Amino acid sequence: MATTGVTEDLNLHHITRQQFDRAVPFADNLHGWRGIAEWLFEPEHIMEVTLPVLLDDGFVHMFRGYRVLHSAIRGPGKGGVRFHPDAGVDEVKALAAWMSWKCALVDVPFGGAKGGIVCDTHRLSIGEQERLTRRFTASLGDTIGPHTDIPAPDLYTNAQTMAWMYDTYSMMHPGAANLPVVTGKPVELGGLAARDGATARGAFYVTEHFLAIGGLAGIDSLDGLRVVIQGFGSAGRHAAQLFRDAGALIVAVSDSRGGIHDPAGLNVRDAGRFKDESGTVVGYPGAEAVPSKGVLEIPCDILIPAAIENQITSRNAGRIDTRLVVEAANGPTTPAADDILADRGIKLIPDILANAGGVVVSYFEWAQNIENQQWDDADVVEKLRKKMRRSTEVVITRRASLAEGLESYQEAWTNATGSDEPIPKPDLRTAAQVVAIQRCRTAALQRGVWP
Ligand code: NAD
Repeated sequence: MATTGVTEDLNLHHITRQQFDRAVPFADNLHGWRGIAEWLFEPEHIMEVTLPVLLDDGFVHMFRGYRVLHSAIRGPGKGGVRFHPDAGVDEVKALAAWMSWKCALVDVPFGGAKGGIVCDTHRLSIGEQERLTRRFTASLGDTIGPHTDIPAPDLYTNAQTMAWMYDTYSMMHPGAANLPVVTGKPVELGGLAARDGATARGAFYVTEHFLAIGGLAGIDSLDGLRVVIQGFGSAGRHAAQLFRDAGALIVAVSDSRGGIHDPAGLNVRDAGRFKDESGTVVGYPGAEAVPSKGVLEIPCDILIPAAIENQITSRNAGRIDTRLVVEAANGPTTPAADDILADRGIKLIPDILANAGGVVVSYFEWAQNIENQQWDDADVVEKLRKKMRRSTEVVITRRASLAEGLESYQEAWTNATGSDEPIPKPDLRTAAQVVAIQRCRTAALQRGVWP
């Protein structure tokens, strides 16, 4: 997505490549056999569809949609569908790759996929959104399916979108048990109550555990910490409530129209009600109005980007005034900004860990649908908590071991490539990526190269 005035490369697919390349020198047996790295990085399947849809004005309008299956090495593709005016094939490729790493990192038996339709939901009626969703689902045909590629909600899509996708797919596959074709469905249609806030809940458990096990010197709980959240949709709004309930002060939140700031802490529930009525948090009484991007620079202890990509860049990373960034959104921080934040001593919990709660609960929903079972909601939440805590520990431990072995990784890298360029110091993003890539590599080699 374009951000004016920034000179760094903001193409998301290029960014995923940079992140991948930073991890390769630390991933055992990857640089020794170069083709494996390419196999793991390149998407398996890219589909682009043209969608004629009858809009309420009586005319047919053309839309473009994408579905990318990045990798099915560890299982069927899994990943959301977003509706956004800036959606494009490179963005969807990047988001699909992140899904592969995320599923491997939290160890759910899926590969990575993602979909997108270029559209602005603010300008589409509910009926128009339904026709667009149905046409997209029909166009994808058997590209999606309970055992091939399983969509879920993402930016500007929700449980209702998934209900339409499920219904359309079911009309095309009568007589089959189709519930597991999508996750994030309404509860009445085989969805899990816990799925709605699962991404935020995952981010919350990761952050809570990160603090409890010494991730931030001198801070071991959320109590009294100042939190800023960019984005007040599914991920951001639930996060605000969960962090507030744990004793944090939510000092600012924003949506696409702007932000609100109250150093004494916002009443999150009330701000949510205000947004439900007016469509935005802007104008919420008693809070200071701030521009949407300005929210990122408000002093706080924890900054949670929960909106869109490329929000923390080389342009503003020097002004971010926080101790910890928790990436609830996908790709909110660029590689150049990663370096600036690290130089400034700001820690960052990367997206593939921080926002993995959504896909973990999606996996539980899929497994429940496959078995035709109904699970208890409290069990789902407890299983999520365990998975997020375990994954947090895995990433922290791996970062420490990568940092400790830096010299030997450098030596092996130089021997394998002939390059004595220093490999970058490993941060939590690289550590998470290394864990994920190695799991994908192991599965790939166990399966072998066919034929
Ligand atoms: P959503 O559509 O429910 O909410 C998005 C929010 O971001 C809205 O409040 C919107 O107003 C705001 N926003 C959009 N553009 C903005 C801008 N330029 N500045 C400030 N705010 C802006 O979407 P969501 O599902 O909450 O997704 C948010 C992020 O979380 C995305 O990056 C998505 O990929 C990621 N994510 C979502 C899930 C999920 O389960 N929903 C899972 C993993 C990751």
